[in-house]
Amino acid sequence: MADITESAVRGVLETVIDPATGKNIVALGMVSGIATRGGHVAVTLEVDPARGAALEPLRQACEQAVRALAGVLSATAVMTAERPAAPSPPTRPAPPPRTGHGPAAAARIDVPGVKHIIAVASGKGGVGKSTTAVNLALGLTANGVATGLLDADIYGPSMPRMLAVKEKPESADGKMLKPIERYGLRTMSIGYIVAEDTPMIWRGPMVSSALEQMLRDVQWGDLDVLVVDMPPGTGDAQLTLAQRVALSGAVIVSTPQDIALIDARKGLSMFRKVAVPVLGIVENMSYFLCPKCGERSEIFGHGGAHEEADKLGVPFLGEIPLHLDIRMTSDSGHPIVVSKPDSPHAQVYKNIAGRVWKQLTANQRGPRPAPKIVMR
Ligand code: ADP
Repeated sequence: MADITESAVRGVLETVIDPATGKNIVALGMVSGIATRGGHVAVTLEVDPARGAALEPLRQACEQAVRALAGVLSATAVMTAERPAAPSPPTRPAPPPRTGHGPAAAARIDVPGVKHIIAVASGKGGVGKSTTAVNLALGLTANGVATGLLDADIYGPSMPRMLAVKEKPESADGKMLKPIERYGLRTMSIGYIVAEDTPMIWRGPMVSSALEQMLRDVQWGDLDVLVVDMPPGTGDAQLTLAQRVALSGAVIVSTPQDIALIDARKGLSMFRKVAVPVLGIVENMSYFLCPKCGERSEIFGHGGAHEEADKLGVPFLGEIPLHLDIRMTSDSGHPIVVSKPDSPHAQVYKNIAGRVWKQLTANQRGPRPAPKIVMR
């Protein structure tokens, strides 16, 4: 396959017209960056923050135009604007300023009443991301933090199973859905609405609009933290979510064997690309704790995540053993943090939750410099 050149990308972007001026976006100097790698193209648009959400169709038009180029496997366009951080509203502590995205910030999904939205992500499926998300959310609740949990893993929603939810969410006015409360946690999942065995095929834009609805059309109320269980992987859909949702930070779940591979790194670089702070890495299935004799075996060569986190300059949040109790409790709808709250495993999750909360509140002390999107 022929390499996609920057000039070819620039060429198609010349066909994208800004409706406000009637000129093409290249001529207007809006294209501030083009990065291509093996069929994946990323475009940065430098735009006037005042035009805000109005430019979202233009951003989409850029992606469409680039996607039409022969050999393009994926196209992502992000909007950035250089401007000082907006002052925090006086009424509630603001999440770290994310104004580096400029107009995307205006279009970005923020949930009124929710102080922090955090993502739980993984480089690939099956590493225990959902198990970690649910126990982390319950660990936050156990620490006295008002918490919600949004299952955004729309390819394989697990909250109906992990929280034993059979009922459908209610709506008082036919517009807003009431979250389903479990163990003091307000939760929502596409799996509450669609039967678990219904095959769902989602394309990128549908993923973000489904998530957008679950964020906007659910009465989350006042929450300190909303934990979002992301779809596994680091594709376009995940990148869009990371970019569109006003995230205070992300937690990356990995197993020791994936750390050796590069899946977790991919997650890290995805969040860095959209300037979302990575709160840290959790190593799941870190070691095997024999339920009979209590002996600890490090079958996957444990400890890699800690080292890797140090190397990458992100906090290490903790290690969770591979243990039957963790699987049985979460698969039966009674996650370990609530069904065996005094167990050492529950304590591990609560400690991780404590570290996450500490970081979120530490972030509030001083505004971070306005982030700028970096294309890699
Ligand atoms: P993901 O969300 O990454 O696809 P899940 O959280 O659904 O992964 O976990 C996959 C399976 O592994 C589930 O059956 C879950 O109960 C089990 N599991 C996850 N973490 C652990 C653990 N630390 N010990 C034992 N089983 C686990």
